[in-house]
Amino acid sequence: MIPLILVGASGRMGRAVEAAALEAGGFRIKARFSRSEPLSREGPGSGEAGYGLERPGAGQSSVRDALLRCAVQGDVIVDFSRPEACRDTARACAERGAALVTGTTGLGPEDERALAEAARRVAVLRAANFSLGIVALRRAVAAALRALPEDWDIEIVERHHRRKVDSPSGTALLIADEVAGHRGGSEVSRRSGREGAAGPRPRDEIGIHSVRGGTWVGDHAVLLAGTGESLEIRHVAEDRSAFAHGALRAARFVASAPPGLYALEDVLSSPGRG
Ligand code: NAD
Repeated sequence: MIPLILVGASGRMGRAVEAAALEAGGFRIKARFSRSEPLSREGPGSGEAGYGLERPGAGQSSVRDALLRCAVQGDVIVDFSRPEACRDTARACAERGAALVTGTTGLGPEDERALAEAARRVAVLRAANFSLGIVALRRAVAAALRALPEDWDIEIVERHHRRKVDSPSGTALLIADEVAGHRGGSEVSRRSGREGAAGPRPRDEIGIHSVRGGTWVGDHAVLLAGTGESLEIRHVAEDRSAFAHGALRAARFVASAPPGLYALEDVLSSPGRG
């Protein structure tokens, strides 16, 4: 049984990961942590999920303090929260020797640094999108770009639920970075949305458009437009369980991986471990 500590446990993804872990088996929920619901951990009289609740009082501890109190080497911390909590979580993982899987998006340079520093001491796996279909989409886009002339325009359209806080999505940014890499890197600019007299579309530009509304879980379309023809490669996540199961594969992987910063592709190319 792999002991999991959930950061962002009360959120949409935290709940999906917990449900998927119970369904998959092989995991034990050791503790849950989120902003509104301080720390819960296993204890006597624990319920079906194998934990009891401890409520030391809202706001009593930060995620870092809580993790320093309960995480040990051998635990896997699964974080779907906010950038500041992800950063604190990475620091606590490094201090306690616990492995980390994080799917939190909207990270800034300081958060990225905290993950890179933690990865020198523990296994850290980070993915902006844990669904297997997105891995396939990225490969399909790379193959399409190899097959098409350089003058085809590239636009990314992403749709997410009305409560998503960061735009564009981390997945759209990741796809844009990869596409830019195929098209000569630094020459290519990213543009979020267009309005007014934006002028003709520059050739070396990747447009990203964020649609927000309703309950869309995650929808990414890459549009490749030539003269007189176009191609659209699209992935639709219908349910958060798609991300949750990918995060659990990642958790199995980091549980036995040496220190380092890993991506979902490392799990997929290592079938014995994920
Ligand atoms: P949500 O708003 O439903 O949940 C956020 C959780 O984080 C809550 O439990 C909240 O209490 C907790 N939290 C916020 N600030 C905190 C803090 N300072 N300390 C501790 N806990 C804190 O959000 P969500 O839809 O579950 O998404 C969470 C993150 O995961 C977002 O960044 C989202 O973009 C990302 N996400 C990633 C993937 C993926 O596959 N990588 C998929 C879906 C969502």
